[in-house]
Amino acid sequence: MKRRTLLAAMGASVLMPVQAKEMDGAETAKGWQNWSQSIAPQNAEIAVPRDAAALKKLLGEAEGGVRPVGSGHSWTGLVPCDGAIVKLDHFNGIGAVDAQAQTAWLGAGARLKDLSPALAAHGLAFRNLGDIDVQSLAGATSTATHGTGRDLPCLAAEIRGLRMVTGAGEDMEISAEKNPDLLPAAQVALGALGIFTEIQMQLVARHKLHRRVWFAPYAQVLADAEQLWRDNRNFEFFYLPFSGQAMCITHNITEADDTPRRHDESDDGVMQLKALRDWLGWFPYLRKKLLAAAIADAPEEDVVGESWQLLSSARNVHFNEMEFHLPLDKGLAALEEVRAHIERHRRDVFFPFECRMTAQDKAWLSPFHDGPRISIAVHTYAPDEYEFLFTEIEPIFRRYGGRPHWGKLNRFTGDDMRVAYPKFDDFAKLRAALDPQGRLLNPYLRDLFEAA
Ligand SMILES: Cc1cc2nc3c(=O)[nH]c(=O)nc-3n(C[C@H](O)[C@H](O)[C@H](O)COP(=O)(O)OP(=O)(O)OC[C@H]3O[C@@H](n4cnc5c(N)ncnc54)[C@H](O)[C@@H]3O)c2cc1C
Repeated sequence: MKRRTLLAAMGASVLMPVQAKEMDGAETAKGWQNWSQSIAPQNAEIAVPRDAAALKKLLGEAEGGVRPVGSGHSWTGLVPCDGAIVKLDHFNGIGAVDAQAQTAWLGAGARLKDLSPALAAHGLAFRNLGDIDVQSLAGATSTATHGTGRDLPCLAAEIRGLRMVTGAGEDMEISAEKNPDLLPAAQVALGALGIFTEIQMQLVARHKLHRRVWFAPYAQVLADAEQLWRDNRNFEFFYLPFSGQAMCITHNITEADDTPRRHDESDDGVMQLKALRDWLGWFPYLRKKLLAAAIADAPEEDVVGESWQLLSSARNVHFNEMEFHLPLDKGLAALEEVRAHIERHRRDVFFPFECRMTAQDKAWLSPFHDGPRISIAVHTYAPDEYEFLFTEIEPIFRRYGGRPHWGKLNRFTGDDMRVAYPKFDDFAKLRAALDPQGRLLNPYLRDLFEAA
């Protein structure tokens, strides 16, 4: 079935070209910055070691701290430092593959988007992916990056082993044979224990997914959400602020034939929501009417393809994001309070809110360590101010028992984290043991682990 952008669905003719082009967090003329450029340019040296020996030398010599970076897609202060920002771009291959166990050793600096087609050649795939796949494997796992699915854990839960150079400059392997008790500590490690060079991942057989996308009244989606999570391998929805409507997305395994792929129009859709905000922000009634009319006419998307080609897509319009993970029985109520607050007080918001579910795992610093959670994400257009996320939205998430995504905007302190994570002090002790001189500490991590 045909899929059109919101505006096309409205029959309007003000299609705005997407200005932003896809960009990594990267060195700019001014210095390293994260993807959304919410972090000020950093003067730190950018180091790209060729092998483990060069990495060790770097750790031994750099003054002002060393921080590993992946593709720079985090908003929290995990990467900035005065010494060296280390990119693992040369650690990007596929190592030993165990077809029977469906595991593979993978370069820690490899991008998920490069790993997926390479794994497909071995008949393997990641069990699940998030909205994008440009992150590095180490970067994505280190902050507990997740997709959606009642029975699908975050990517870090799939780590079966890893090799790193610790903050003290020592080689260390954690695997079924070596230091296995440290695996749950290292799965979500924020780059605070060591710099990972290889990661052994649990994979699944390469598979195809059937993707469906449709709009429905938000109240109906809230009522049906639990059933939709039960009935579908992957289910998520986006609430379009000021519309009363939500876009639902499901993915289920299929053996049906592939259908032709289309141009992904989600960036155009977001810019059209911005246009409506710009023109009708002060006329919420009109904004809602136009949105509802457009959505009512929007046809379903119904496609089949390789899992990795459907689960992730490009995000070319830059934004800032806060995402909290909430207990299952509180997630939808928190979303509803956030929606009501934003529609009452923040007419500038136009990015859809995202609502997903992630299964439990055992990593010490996984937000899902004690049970599955519903994740709610609020985005703001990168050029817009976003202080209100901390002052108005975070307090709502906190009241509902939310834990912040490690890579996304939040003002949790070390004390807050200690309450949220029973193993937080154990992690802090391990960190101090593996990095006694604090070479991997930066101001953000010092605040978390030393001021707590
Ligand atoms: C557009 C966009 C969409 C996103 N979608 C999702 C989503 O769907 N689901 C979700 O959960 N998150 C999502 N995120 C958040 C993102 O997945 C995480 O912030 C992730 O950590 C970014 O990966 P990265 O490779 O850019 O890592 P970075 O942000 O560069 O680093 C993250 C952490 O990993 C550490 N690290 C990096 N490399 C190594 C290494 N070799 N050894 C040890 N530590 C290392 C860093 O020190 C840092 O602590 C999204 C972010 C953006 C910008």
